[in-house]
Amino acid sequence: MRTMEIKKSLFDNLQNFFGFDNFKGEQEAIITNILQKKDTFVIMPTGGGKSICYQLPALMSEGTAVVISPLIALMKNQVDQLRAFGGTDSIAHFLNSSLNKAEITKVKQDVLSGETKLLYVAPESLSKAENIDFLRLITVSFVAVDEAHCISEWGHDFRPEYRKIRQVISNLGENIPIIALTATATPKVQQDIIKNLQMNKATLFKSSFNRSNLFYEVRPKRNILKEIIRFIKSHPSKTGIVYCLSRKKVEEVAEALNLNGIKALPYHAGLEPKVRADTQDKFLMEDVEVIVATIAFGMGIDKPDVRYVIHHDIPKSMEGYYQETGRAGRDGGEGVCVAFYAEKDIDKLAKFMKDKPVSEREIGTQILKEVIDYAESSVCRRKQILHYFGENFNEAGCGEMCDNCRAQKTHFDGAEKLQHTLQVIGALGEKFDDHHIISFMMGEETPQIVAYDHNKLPEFGGGKEDGLTLWKSLLRQALLNNYISKDIDSYGLLRLTKSGKAFIESPHSVRFVLNRQMEAGEDEQEDGGQQGGGTLDTELLKMLKELRKKIAKQKSLPPFVIFQDPSLDEMCTHYPVSVDELKQIQGVGAGKAMKFGAPFIELIKKYVEENDIDRPIDLVIKSAANKSALKVSIIQNIDRKIALEDIASAKGITYEDIIREVESIVNSGTKLNLNYYIDEMIDEDRQDEVFDYFRSAEVDSIDEALKELGSDEYSIEELQLMRIKFLSELGN
Ligand SMILES: [Zn+2]
Repeated sequence: MRTMEIKKSLFDNLQNFFGFDNFKGEQEAIITNILQKKDTFVIMPTGGGKSICYQLPALMSEGTAVVISPLIALMKNQVDQLRAFGGTDSIAHFLNSSLNKAEITKVKQDVLSGETKLLYVAPESLSKAENIDFLRLITVSFVAVDEAHCISEWGHDFRPEYRKIRQVISNLGENIPIIALTATATPKVQQDIIKNLQMNKATLFKSSFNRSNLFYEVRPKRNILKEIIRFIKSHPSKTGIVYCLSRKKVEEVAEALNLNGIKALPYHAGLEPKVRADTQDKFLMEDVEVIVATIAFGMGIDKPDVRYVIHHDIPKSMEGYYQETGRAGRDGGEGVCVAFYAEKDIDKLAKFMKDKPVSEREIGTQILKEVIDYAESSVCRRKQILHYFGENFNEAGCGEMCDNCRAQKTHFDGAEKLQHTLQVIGALGEKFDDHHIISFMMGEETPQIVAYDHNKLPEFGGGKEDGLTLWKSLLRQALLNNYISKDIDSYGLLRLTKSGKAFIESPHSVRFVLNRQMEAGEDEQEDGGQQGGGTLDTELLKMLKELRKKIAKQKSLPPFVIFQDPSLDEMCTHYPVSVDELKQIQGVGAGKAMKFGAPFIELIKKYVEENDIDRPIDLVIKSAANKSALKVSIIQNIDRKIALEDIASAKGITYEDIIREVESIVNSGTKLNLNYYIDEMIDEDRQDEVFDYFRSAEVDSIDEALKELGSDEYSIEELQLMRIKFLSELGN
């Protein structure tokens, strides 16, 4: 075809088949290149319209295009779409392990008859002899290698089978054009792809990786659940994804979100395929607001209006981070990306790698270091991300679309220190990594420093007074501004670039940003244990106490049976105005909320309106997880009439612990029948006496009760048990 004809035919097909009027970005040039039978290498971020680049030329070419794709879900998705566009099933097929024999026969028939324009194949299936034999029978228009970064160990999901692709293609016939596509490729991954697929002559099409509509932010990991819930609640009726590193965390966080009134579903590879598919559908249909997922979620899910992506844990690589955040705002609209960072998470990730082979560990460590540097640096996030993908970006173009560009910054004049650092790097023969250089400046006698006698050099420790943060900041920016480069092939050793060498000769003034300190996070176990930090509304507290007294009188119950003081206090910081919200208050379970809640909610609602109170969005975070599992188990064991001591020892907790758990179960409105246990310990008359006392008691205090009833007569344990019985029978 002549160029003009191609052009006309291209637009016709784009309109007729896909229903678009115009090509995006470089699509047209890419497709033309493929139609001219040239090898083509496409690096285009997610959402750039990658698949059309091979789908359209496949439809226009003679024969069948073979598309290699790593994920069955992804293949199915694309085949479904093509069939919907094309109006016929035979136009596209996939060949993978999910098909039975009859289905495979049908696929082969359609391909042989020439009706199939695209055949999707998993790399594992591609290298099978029978499939190679089959493909040799047909005309292959070209081979598309999707997710081509899987070829490289430096990509974020290396697949060894990808290394065999070139060999297979050579077996299929001569001069079959290859198109390699990826949405993430650092310069290193790019090299690997070209080398491995032997595509030296390929035309490279690289789009910018800048996603200007995404807002990037890294927060220190503190009160993580609360922060996440607050974030989600401040983005009502929008959908988002929360990524966690482990399946266990996924389950925990999803449960906590639900407990706090957010519709969330977990997603990870450990779930049944059917459940996973349902979850995806519900997300697409917006039956759930949030998916809490491991990185297994997202590939092939094309929801254009995901409004936020939260990283509960810092991701393992910048590529992963870019991919996952890239799922936000695909329609060009709002997309907020928040990652939580704690140093101890890094330790966890490092531990995962401990058992891996040395080379893999070495690579993993370097990849991880990039993430740490990203999280800790105060330089524009966008500039850092794009630098990672080999793009130079001036932060002025960020438009305050990252936390660092919005924050107040501390600058320092870096000229002299940069010159000195570059000199040191040069003097040490460009043979050391950033860690070593920083240790050298700080005068730390690490084993490596000592081994090389660097502690005997006059410059050793010369920068100690400037502090660690300054040196970390300086080296990071020396890299981001291309005064030095990291030699990825050899352990990330720092090399002087041309401009680095020039700077040593004639330095000019440079202003660097000092990293902000990420304050250490609290222990995660404390998540949600702490109650809202708002100030107590004493006026409301007075009113609530009066109401409680009134109701107690009506029902002839002591006030503390209704709601206990800590619960009232909390109502005065969180202002619950619905039964659901009331249930979030500590010590108020579903039972209590239903039984006594209505007049309290009524009063608070009126109070909030009259006083124009701005209610905090974040209610108390109810943490479920382990704690609730323990409670559930205790309740079950009590139903089976097992002695409390025995339950405690089976659960590995003390008797005091179990009493505390039982109290908290009863306090929050669950009825427990402990008579089997109490009747053994306390005779009936004494039980009646204690009951009568509690009925008339003004305050809820075991000490007070002990004083009144006499410590010779009763033990603390007995009174605790009786109080549990009393609250359970009268309050719940
Ligand atoms: Zn920025």
